[in-house]
Amino acid sequence: MSLLPILRWPDPRLSQVCAEVASVAEVTELVTDMFETMYDAPGRGLAAPQVGAMVRVFVMDAGWKDGEMNPLACINPRILWASDETVTGGEGCLSIPGVTAQVTRAARIRLGFTDLTGAAQEVELSGPEAIVAQHEYDHLDGLVHFDRLEPAARDALTAEYGALA
Ligand code: ZN
Repeated sequence: MSLLPILRWPDPRLSQVCAEVASVAEVTELVTDMFETMYDAPGRGLAAPQVGAMVRVFVMDAGWKDGEMNPLACINPRILWASDETVTGGEGCLSIPGVTAQVTRAARIRLGFTDLTGAAQEVELSGPEAIVAQHEYDHLDGLVHFDRLEPAARDALTAEYGALA
């Protein structure tokens, strides 16, 4: 196991679309390292491009900071369904430290993915888990939470982030 350096936005790798994983075996060690890096950061989710691995993998554990551990590793995830109902809440990102963005997302989603055994899984997520999964999924398509904001809000936050950097 090893901690991986987390890329900071606007590293260009955070704006690229990641490639499908061909075989689970090639990402097993990556997933282990990503969990270790996420818990150390500390964060609730981490996507592979945030550590410079341009593959469609993310790990998450939305409740561990509140004492409810539920680690989830998603390989080649797909959002199969998203509720019309939305929620707006503050989101941080390990690649954009110090900035909280108010992002509107689907309240519930159904997520399909391959697990670490190579089996196809389908889960319905709500609450913080739905939000974290959508945030991490966006990273695989080269999107960060800034990209979900209206231009004025985005400009204000990128200026705030620039002042911190
Ligand atoms: Zn993020």
